[in-house]
Amino acid sequence: ERAALEEFKTLEGRTKDGRRIEVSANLGSAKEAADALDFGAEGVGLFRTEFLFMERDTLPTEDEQFEVYRQAVEAFGERPVIFRTLDVGGDKDLPGVDQPLEENPFLGWRGIRMCLDVPELFKPQLRALLRASAHGNLKVMFPMVADVSEIVAAKAVLEECREELRSEGAEFDEFEVGVMVETPAAAICASDLAPEVSFFSIGTNDLVQYTLAADRGNEKLEHLQSADHPAVLKLIGLTCEAAKEAGIWVGVCGEAAGEPDLIPRLVELGVTELSMSAPRIPRAKKVLSEVA
Ligand code: PEP
Ligand code: MG
Repeated sequence: ERAALEEFKTLEGRTKDGRRIEVSANLGSAKEAADALDFGAEGVGLFRTEFLFMERDTLPTEDEQFEVYRQAVEAFGERPVIFRTLDVGGDKDLPGVDQPLEENPFLGWRGIRMCLDVPELFKPQLRALLRASAHGNLKVMFPMVADVSEIVAAKAVLEECREELRSEGAEFDEFEVGVMVETPAAAICASDLAPEVSFFSIGTNDLVQYTLAADRGNEKLEHLQSADHPAVLKLIGLTCEAAKEAGIWVGVCGEAAGEPDLIPRLVELGVTELSMSAPRIPRAKKVLSEVA
């Protein structure tokens, strides 16, 4: 069994009938890159940048962030590394950011909402990402989006950073900008969001939590913590349809992406990239190889 799985590490993700599905890793730091590659990661579908901000008492500088992002893209060479911009909220303290005490931090001032309000936080990250784009195959996506205006605003800040770097003579490349679909609103309005981005990445952990109104960390609600619920699958379906219509691709980077029982259904709905914790990659590739 284990030997059989071992074989899949070095294979490309493909269905039985030959459709290409990229199988990537979720990373929290550049240090995890080597392990992920050993497990057969074809890229990084979700680089959670918040750990870089949580492990310390001061905000990381643009240069410090650039070093980490550069290391990660260099480790993956031509393979894509998708960085998610900072996704924290009232449940975690950020040094130097005045966060109000919130009764419902998961419904609060977090993710893209906070970043758009605090350019001192957002711009150094975007500048660091832009600079890292010159060193590998980088993509960027925004978390917790609930409205198309947030994407438009985030892209405007990105463009502002581009202009600055251009005038400073810094190097950067073109790259794909995507959005996470992890609020029911984003899935329902996917056809409005799609024209603004190059890809969707469905965050099933939060999409399940917000769709089923069930706290993802509450042990009493385990029966309501799976993407295998008709409401969630319908939202994933809507997202895929809107993406197809607009000609953009869709990945899944929540836990569902690595669940053998769900993989065939996600592929059937139109998902072409699955990103998961690295140890789940070989099995996911094997499951894919059996999908007709
Ligand atoms: C998700 O919500 O599914 C996701 C991938 O992001 P996180 O787990 O970091 O919230
Ligand atoms: Mg999330």
